[in-house]
Amino acid sequence: MDLMTSAAAASVDVTSATADEVTGVLHHLAVLGRLVQAREIECIHRLEQLAIDHPGLSPEHVCAAASGRSLRAATAVVGRADAAVGLPVLTSMLGAGLVSGAHLDAFAAALRSLEEALRPALLACEAQLATEALSMTVEQFTTRLKAEVRRIEGDDGMSRLERQRRQTGLRQWVGRDGMWCISGRYDPEQAMVLAAALQAQTDSRSHAPHPPGVPSDPLLAHEWFQAMALADLVLGTGSGAPSFEVITVIDEQTWSHGRHARSRVDCGRGIDLPVDALRDLIGRATGRVRFVPVVVDRNGVVVRQGRPVPTFDDLVASLRDPVGLDLGRSRRFANRDQRRALRAMYRRCAIPGCDRHVSTTQPHHLDEWDHGGHTDLSRLLPLCQHHHRRLHAEHWQVDIADDRSLVIRRGGEVIMTTGPPAEQWR
Ligand SMILES: [Zn+2]
Ligand SMILES: [Zn+2]
Repeated sequence: MDLMTSAAAASVDVTSATADEVTGVLHHLAVLGRLVQAREIECIHRLEQLAIDHPGLSPEHVCAAASGRSLRAATAVVGRADAAVGLPVLTSMLGAGLVSGAHLDAFAAALRSLEEALRPALLACEAQLATEALSMTVEQFTTRLKAEVRRIEGDDGMSRLERQRRQTGLRQWVGRDGMWCISGRYDPEQAMVLAAALQAQTDSRSHAPHPPGVPSDPLLAHEWFQAMALADLVLGTGSGAPSFEVITVIDEQTWSHGRHARSRVDCGRGIDLPVDALRDLIGRATGRVRFVPVVVDRNGVVVRQGRPVPTFDDLVASLRDPVGLDLGRSRRFANRDQRRALRAMYRRCAIPGCDRHVSTTQPHHLDEWDHGGHTDLSRLLPLCQHHHRRLHAEHWQVDIADDRSLVIRRGGEVIMTTGPPAEQWR
């Protein structure tokens, strides 16, 4: 479909349209967006041709001025156009409205993540991967590309980790407003320990009585606590966590047979490490870090969970003697192991579309204690304060399947459904 036809199809009046008609318009709008992106690429290519004879002409500046974008955003558009030259299949599919510019960006990013000598191997799969992209969201396509990059590297990401170690760096400057600013880049191995330490210190700060001066906006307050936690760690002034935990999630197949195309190895915040590096890191335990091994199935549901341990050997032993996650009537509230399991399974609040991080949620009991409910992991759901309150106030009924997909009803009518928690990580 061309630009004009899909613009016409997307412009029909929807004030009295049926749901199907609105769906159709939304589809045409999505196609239109892709065609616009393809057209932009053509324009940038022409500007780059013109710039050869007119050295004063900068495609970035022309694009920024014409589209009201910042120079930085315009530079990204030019970057996409430059990447498109090397990706003929994805580019022609974008021109047909079949994939989005973000799919093309994902491929370009995967290409950049490879060492130069290995890039032709990924380029050789462009046509095959582009066909797969047709039925994938950008997130799914990104995961697929990561697996392909690992396959090409053939060493479970060890050479990439080497490169990332060399790319570590920290910049500091004083802003125009007089504030001291820092910006750092760490390889995933350092990142997992640093992020866990910062998280533990931030938690202990935010759970203590709030000092005056904490912003009232929750997001700004979180940033405030993080900044103070970093200062605590640098200056050694924090009263907080003497040790901290890294919840290490590995899927069953990777744990027993090694890395595969859909492996999930997650050391918190989506940080993925080569399994050997993880083994090595846990072997170099400092005493302050404790690892909580959690094995999940392909749906992201916990099948086994160990106790916090300092070394890799302990980790293996800890999983041989897993913790009990079903407490029945022996305990009314979720215990620490169950909270860890919820944190391992979920990235955010369990209500579809909610973006509250799981660390800020509360475990909700699907069966009320007063009505004989059991404190079993399968009956616990992490909910943010807002959704927890709504669920109780509006008497939502929640059905949870074995794979933890949900059907949520209000007054007998289905209001929301979700797939398994693994979907939150894709
Ligand atoms: Zn509740
Ligand atoms: Zn929520």
